Amino acid sequence: MKQPTVLVVEDEPSIAELIMVNLRHHGYQTRWAADGVQAQRMLLDQMPDLILLDWMLPGENGVALARRWRKDARSRDVPIIMLTARSEEADRVAGLDAGADDYLAKPFSTRELLARMRAVLRRRAPEQIPVTLTLADLSLDELSQRVSFRGQAIKLGPTEYRLLNYLMRHPERVHSRAQLLDKVWGAQVLIEDRTVDVHIKRLREALGEGAAMVETVRGSGYRLTQQGTTSARGGMA
Ligand code: CA
Repeated sequence: MKQPTVLVVEDEPSIAELIMVNLRHHGYQTRWAADGVQAQRMLLDQMPDLILLDWMLPGENGVALARRWRKDARSRDVPIIMLTARSEEADRVAGLDAGADDYLAKPFSTRELLARMRAVLRRRAPEQIPVTLTLADLSLDELSQRVSFRGQAIKLGPTEYRLLNYLMRHPERVHSRAQLLDKVWGAQVLIEDRTVDVHIKRLREALGEGAAMVETVRGSGYRLTQQGTTSARGGMA
């Protein structure tokens, strides 16, 4: 496998250099952009495997850039870690809301940065190639992001979609709430376990007749299974 390429968007040359030296030392390829305009040009040229994005930049700031890149189909799936001197909770929420995968307050250690990079790369990498997932009567097309049950289109909110997408990538397995938080929401410390329950409930409501496919496993978590559907039962008889 090729070495992951990291785009460092940081206007302080000394900080950018320090980060890049450390990353190269740990086997990453690095590119540097001093502002959003340069970063945009580099993204068009070659999509990196991960973006480290400073919040305070001349011109468009990091939050605006993250929001823009998340809207663009080409850069939508590239993991973004925001780097910032700001560590207020409201700032962290703004960064994550803009679509960043994680948030690191300066000063941070190289060890912590590397650990967070590994975590977001692990979370994102298997989802990079879009496929159509099918389980019994349920179908999810990652390219068009369309979901259907028995041929009928199902409308889902963005979180329910990501949740179902993850469950369909890993069906017939029990996932704890903590695992789902980590895989679907990312390591966002601000979210509580019961958030998962809320979105599972919404997902079931949206699935209608397919709701039984989302099983609650008492004391453990949730499982997506084909057991709950009529056609699956018929198939096994
Ligand atoms: Ca800066």
